[in-house]
Amino acid sequence: MTTLDENDLDPTDALSSVPAAGARRAVPAAGRLKFCYGPMDCGKSTLALQINHNHARQGRRGLLLVRHDRSGAPQITSRIGITSTANEVGADTDLRALVKEQWAAGRHVDYLIVDEAQFLSPAQVEQLAELADDVQVDVYCFGIATDFRSELFPGARRLFELADELQPVQVEVLCWCGATGRFNARVRDGEVLRAGDTVVVADTEPGIVESSASPLREAELTTMRYQVLCRRHYRTGHLGPATAQHGQLRLT
Ligand SMILES: [Zn+2]
Repeated sequence: MTTLDENDLDPTDALSSVPAAGARRAVPAAGRLKFCYGPMDCGKSTLALQINHNHARQGRRGLLLVRHDRSGAPQITSRIGITSTANEVGADTDLRALVKEQWAAGRHVDYLIVDEAQFLSPAQVEQLAELADDVQVDVYCFGIATDFRSELFPGARRLFELADELQPVQVEVLCWCGATGRFNARVRDGEVLRAGDTVVVADTEPGIVESSASPLREAELTTMRYQVLCRRHYRTGHLGPATAQHGQLRLT
């Protein structure tokens, strides 16, 4: 029989082949990788800017990054009107290099805030984990978990796998029926679309289409929109009364 004391209660110790208590103290504290996720319009960008504000007030220095901002310019834009300029992350951007550039310019980086993080590549998410582990940068990612097919975005999937902390964003978006909205349905002509290119972003500017497999035609984009639905109505494709179908991310 072994005896348990408080130090044995950490369940991760069970996975460790060596007693970690002493060794752990020698390792510098790692930064934390956090993923805050929710459907569109749930207030993620607002929360991202709030967290940035809170850290900056403490004298910490952060870097705001965005992949595919909905405004079409590199900034974090919340739908309630607050914006902040940000660094655009391209498909091939090495996020470690971005931080090193800051260092080279004599600026330290305490934390990163990444909006639209679902569009990061899995490799970029791994770079974020590396920054947290090796140079103690705290990383806050904000994004959507699933695409219009209700399947995880590759970037979101990697974040679910690697993040230290996962947090659903608490500002609730409701389906037209009043249930919690969980899925971003892509809608055209009153029909929920269930196949097509994964990445179609833009409501203010039609036509940022990333997948080259079958680029959407301009005409298709102008009639396409997104609507947040609960799981039942996502499954059944029931979009509710006409009044429920307006005011959400029209792609025109
Ligand atoms: Zn519903």
